[in-house]
Amino acid sequence: MASREHERILQDTEREQGNTAFRNNVKAALALANAVRSTLGPHGLDKMLISDVGDVQVTNDGVTVLEAAKVEHPTARMLIDTSTAQDTEAHDGTTSAIVLTAELLLNALDWIDRGIHPSVLTKGYGMSLDYALSEIESISRTSDEDDLIRVVETSLSGKISEDTRTSLSQLAVEAAKIAYKRSNRESIDPNDIKRITIRGGRVSDSERIDGIIMRKTRLDSQTSDKLTAGKVLILDGGLDPKELSLDASIRITEPGMLARFIERQKKELQDRVQTIADVGTNLLIVRDGVNDDAIPMLRKAGIVTYRRVERDDLELIARACGASIIRDTRAIDSDCLGDFESIKEESWESVDHVRINGSVGSGQTVIIRGSTQSILEETMRAFDDAIGVACGLVQDSSILPGGGAIQIALARRLRSFSTTVPGREQLAIEAYAAAMECIPRALSENAGLDGLDRILEITAVQASNDNDWLGLDVTDRSIYDMYERGILEPVRTTRQALIGATESAISVLRIGDILWAKQDPQTPDWQSELNQEDD
Ligand code: ADP
Ligand code: MG
Repeated sequence: MASREHERILQDTEREQGNTAFRNNVKAALALANAVRSTLGPHGLDKMLISDVGDVQVTNDGVTVLEAAKVEHPTARMLIDTSTAQDTEAHDGTTSAIVLTAELLLNALDWIDRGIHPSVLTKGYGMSLDYALSEIESISRTSDEDDLIRVVETSLSGKISEDTRTSLSQLAVEAAKIAYKRSNRESIDPNDIKRITIRGGRVSDSERIDGIIMRKTRLDSQTSDKLTAGKVLILDGGLDPKELSLDASIRITEPGMLARFIERQKKELQDRVQTIADVGTNLLIVRDGVNDDAIPMLRKAGIVTYRRVERDDLELIARACGASIIRDTRAIDSDCLGDFESIKEESWESVDHVRINGSVGSGQTVIIRGSTQSILEETMRAFDDAIGVACGLVQDSSILPGGGAIQIALARRLRSFSTTVPGREQLAIEAYAAAMECIPRALSENAGLDGLDRILEITAVQASNDNDWLGLDVTDRSIYDMYERGILEPVRTTRQALIGATESAISVLRIGDILWAKQDPQTPDWQSELNQEDD
């Protein structure tokens, strides 16, 4: 009897430890979510980030805040990964994804405390996700031309000032559309659109230009600063005589030997330049350095050269000109070359730039202007998101209502779905529905409104008007049809946030499940372990 009692206490202690471990995991997620929750929405607070070395950055971008936090906790790290995935997939919705994950976990914890097994919750959450994703399809609508700009504008709200929002959104949509029209691929990559910043002028002076622009001057000022139509060779490497390998040395045993050695190296360089010239190169783009001895050789061959060109630019130029990027000059032929339409050096704000127009894709560059470095950085970050959203939209233009409307609509639909599920999963689906409401709650609270009241109000007006598009516009704190107000979200953003948050919550719950299984005699795992011991 005494030993049984002992066993029970032991088990209780272990279970306590299991639950504590799980609670700690969830707590880490909550702490992190709290750090970003107050940035959600256009009225979200800006955070001032101060790095170890004292650099100051002001932002209200969730993922920027998280990355600066340098969190070590594994659960918290996983949340950061979720938000990074969101950023990569949708270029927006990172804060929402984090806040949603934390809320899903918090609601799960409530049920776990009341004795519901974590595996019931993971199953119910999975069912909820599937249901929500299918409902999204029926709520969404296809956007027209003007809507695209309004969707991008929504994604920028709170990130940059009102007056620059529209011009930056127009710029992003224009660039994305052109990239899509010119590209013969299924999907377009936002990185196909080059972005540079120029200090000076206002953000609204930012513009889109055909061609790839680099902050560079040609290697040799005696060569021409503009060319029309010609052949480009792109070299991923340097134009140097072959370096001696590290452990090699030359032994000078007789006078004149060094001179002959140098002569031979020069000859080898000359041969390489000759090969480059022979295939018909007019423009040479080099990733690394170019040896000084090569400068007059290239000049003589009439080749304009740019060196130390970044890898990303090499790729953009290659794509725009239809060139291959080559590593070894000995293996080239004229097929490696691409065609450019023009190159031209221009000076902006007294900084030299070169513009290369390809003849295949032309390429395009967006020039972001701003008066200070910090404005430029924040604008660039906003534009990066804008172009990501815009590129996604030109491929899939289906949209959903913002302002918490979609989450309330999903919560309503999930609640009625839950009543059709007879098992305990019904509770999990209700918990999932309630978690959806964290978005409108945070939006309301960040706008100084009562979260609960707003949720109830939107739920009621949506139901009585049978309109899923009714949501909260925080600019005047009233409820409207979000389509009419232009507060719109790409389906891609909402879908990815739901998937990311649910998967992330489920994987944390699985940890709870494992801990639980080890300690709860009611679960099959524990039972089978006991049986094995008996055998
Ligand atoms: P995230 O990182 O999740 O994109 P944001 O801070 O960009 O976070 O906020 C996005 C949320 O703000 C979305 O739910 C969007 O619908 C909402 N939102 C944007 N503009 C408004 C507005 N005028 N009124 C209410 N909600 C808005
Ligand atoms: Mg956003």
